[in-house]
Amino acid sequence: MEIDPKKLKVLLTEEEILEKAKEIGKQITEYYKNIDDEIIAVCALKGSVHFFSDLVKHIDHDMKYYFVRVSSYHGGTSSTGKITVNSWTNEPLEGKHILIVEDIVDTGNTIRFLINEIKKQNPASIKLTSLLIKNAHDHGIDVDFPGFEIDNYFVIGYGLDYDEKYRNLPFIGYVE
Ligand code: 5GP
Repeated sequence: MEIDPKKLKVLLTEEEILEKAKEIGKQITEYYKNIDDEIIAVCALKGSVHFFSDLVKHIDHDMKYYFVRVSSYHGGTSSTGKITVNSWTNEPLEGKHILIVEDIVDTGNTIRFLINEIKKQNPASIKLTSLLIKNAHDHGIDVDFPGFEIDNYFVIGYGLDYDEKYRNLPFIGYVE
């Protein structure tokens, strides 16, 4: 199925997203300033890829990048509820300071799963940032460094897909 470009509305522009990434980067730098150890920044693929690369440039701290792929959507606009690990880092995370970078928290199931997987490896700490947080669900997830709270739209662009397409839109959009 295709999205009708005439029905596509801009929810967040590239400028707004870049500004937010800078602001969150500063907050994260401030938070870790008394921690000498490196941060392990975990990019939750694929949706977080653009936010991740905007954000890390504004974090002034020693850092390593990890990329993991955990997915709960298998096409379309509705979640299957089933979460699968498609790719994972084999680096040991024990004793490390983990910063998870997410694109969106909707029901919270994906991030809960990801946090639990990371916790199994006994990291020193786990912090979470997410560019978008849908306010429709009482997901109970504490996003340490939140981006934008949004209404219950199905959004695409800036990494977020519809059937693997539209990730390269330079803004976050929704269909009315
Ligand atoms: P949750 O498990 O919190 O319900 O959903 C998290 C994952 O579902 C996100 O990482 C993202 O892949 C996908 N997702 C949730 N809401 C949306 C949305 O509005 N648009 C797109 N493209 N993906 C979404």
